[in-house]
Parts: sequence; C-alpha cells; structure tokens
Amino acid sequence: MTTSGERPATTDPVIGLAHLSGEVAAACARAGRSVQSVTLVAASKTVAPDRLAQTIEAGHLAYGENRVQEAKGKWPGLLERFAGVELHLIGPLQSNKVREAVALFDVIQSVDRPSLCSALAKQCERQERWPRLFVQVNTGVEPQKAGVLPDDADAFLQTCRDTHRLDVVGLMCVPPADQPPEPHFTLLAELAERNGLKQLSMGMSGDYTTAIEHGATHVRVGSAIFGARPYPTNLPTP
Ligand SMILES: *Cc1c(COP(=O)(O)O)cnc(C)c1O
Repeated sequence: MTTSGERPATTDPVIGLAHLSGEVAAACARAGRSVQSVTLVAASKTVAPDRLAQTIEAGHLAYGENRVQEAKGKWPGLLERFAGVELHLIGPLQSNKVREAVALFDVIQSVDRPSLCSALAKQCERQERWPRLFVQVNTGVEPQKAGVLPDDADAFLQTCRDTHRLDVVGLMCVPPADQPPEPHFTLLAELAERNGLKQLSMGMSGDYTTAIEHGATHVRVGSAIFGARPYPTNLPTP
C-alpha cells in the first residue's frame, strides 16, 4: 500500500529526485521564495548505497538518515568516493551514539534534551568538529515522539546556548501523522522567530509544499523520491 506522496519502490532514484526538485522549485515560486532558500534533504533510510551513489552522481548532495547505526554502515564508503555530501541526522540520538554522530554528520537535527547537549558539547570539543544543530520540537505533544515540548522550547534553547555553548541554527518538527500540518508549521516558525533562529526543518513527502509556504528552509523527503520503504522505520514496529 502506498499513500499519496509515495512512488513505487522500483522508481529510478535519479528520476524521483529530478521530479521532486522540480516540485520544490514550483512550490518556492508559488510562495514567492527563491529556490536557494530551501534545501531538499533526501531522507535515505533503507535506501541502498548503490542507489544513493546514483543520486549523488546526479548532483544531489544533502541526505538525511534517521539511525546512526545504519548511517555508519552505509555512508563512510560513499563519503570516500564523493566529495561535498552533507549528511543530516534526522532521527532521535541516543547519548551512547553521540561520539559516532559527531564524527559522521554535518547537521544534527534532533537535539532534544539537556543530557544530550552536554554529551554533544563534550564530543564537539574533543573531535574539534561542530555539526550544525537543530532543536527538535514535539509540536503535537505526542508521548511517543522525540522533541522538546513547545512550552519548554525557549528555556531549552537558552540552556543550549548559555550552559553548553552550542550553536543551534534552527528548529525541526515531525507533526502528528493524523492532523493537518499547518498549525504545527506555524508554531515552529513562531518559536524560531521568537528565538532568533533562521532555519526551519519541516515537511516530508506528504506535506513539503505546505511546509515551504510556511517558511521551511529544509524539507526532508524520502518516499516521494526513492519509493515506498519496505517497512515503516520511524514508527515503533507493531
Ligand atoms: C523518514 C523520515 C522523513 C521522510 O519521510 P517520507 O514520508 O518518506 O518523506 C522525514 N523526517 C524524518 C524524521 C524521517 O524519519
């Protein structure tokens, strides 16, 4: 079964990517925004390295993985072959994976708790590598979902800056699957504005055009590029 935004798994990833890039450009034009103001992060979980090599060769450089373990197995070989790739961690980060995450990722979008901040600060200093950081906000206040609660976001951002000296550049959210995304995108944009943050990572296969209308600077799109995944990886398995 596929939902509206998904393409068949057999889709040529280069064609899927070209299609999606065109859709992003059209959404930018409709919103009166420049194409350069939105980064398409290709969500590549479960996508095999040979398919990723094809899209990298076609010139696409921004990718998002949601598990450190999977990324560690898949990306070092590709990073050796291709220069210029920008790797985003878009899934939850466990404290015991921080060392590996700092070593591998250019952007970590899922900062969401003080203990993670201190572990990140320590590893960044130690490795002299400073991935760009986004704070994830649980805009729908869903108990099973990662992210700081909207009411805690201001204080948490202050802790990131003042206590841990972390350079947070933006906010990220994954709205509840069963609700219209607009109020969540609006809320995230308000929180960012109020905290002087310029970057907004929001929008997935089903709602990236809406996210672009609401100011997204990063959209994370997987199945609409690569086809339906063999199993849902961002949900607990039943
Ligand atoms: C998988 C994933 C996406 C992309 O989801 P699609 O619906 O396939 O576009 C975006 N964000 C996160 C955090 C994800 O885990």
